[in-house]
Amino acid sequence: MLRIGPTPYYRTVSASLFAAMRAAWAEVRPRFEAYQLVLPGSPGFVCQPQACTAYCCHAYSVNLGDADVERFRRLEQLELADFLECDEDGKPLTLPMAQPFLLRREEGRCKFLGGHLGCTVYEGRPNACRLYPHFIVFWDGEAGRARTTPSKRAAASFDAAVLGNIYGLIPLLLGHVQCPGFTGDPVNEAEWHRLFRATYQLQYAAV
Ligand code: SF4
Repeated sequence: MLRIGPTPYYRTVSASLFAAMRAAWAEVRPRFEAYQLVLPGSPGFVCQPQACTAYCCHAYSVNLGDADVERFRRLEQLELADFLECDEDGKPLTLPMAQPFLLRREEGRCKFLGGHLGCTVYEGRPNACRLYPHFIVFWDGEAGRARTTPSKRAAASFDAAVLGNIYGLIPLLLGHVQCPGFTGDPVNEAEWHRLFRATYQLQYAAV
């Protein structure tokens, strides 16, 4: 989950961009049914681990990239074998992905979920945990498909959207439907803007 700090300014996003986001979401939605579109006015996210018994920390295996591993090791002062899934020789397992490592699990949940349903490694937690339950997907209208990989085109489209413009792809800020934390006050445009930027940074710029 994300802690959102203040940003020095935000620019009002144009109504036409939000209209384009709604139209793009109508195209993307059938393939992302586990998500809902988050716009200004959507309920804010407030983590409520008691309400869901920390479902996300039980249900999902957490992937880490090199930067995640380095930060985790530095902040939590742990050896790799203490926090990554490893083979019989004690070497970290790797998957053919941009974030190839797996956070260690025990007894059907993340090893670092505390008995109080709080994260015991909050400072060092991976980006996937900081990101959840938000996610950004790009709608490529020309190709008629959604895109979730970093690219110069995605970066340029995101930068344009931050300024209230439409350029190439349409970035959509989504929230995971199953998460019961979307019970906060409606997010205003400044809060939405900060969340939009922070989610992009974690998901696409910090890989
Ligand atoms: S690192 Fe923390 S937030 Fe992430 S899955 Fe484990 S307990 Fe949950």
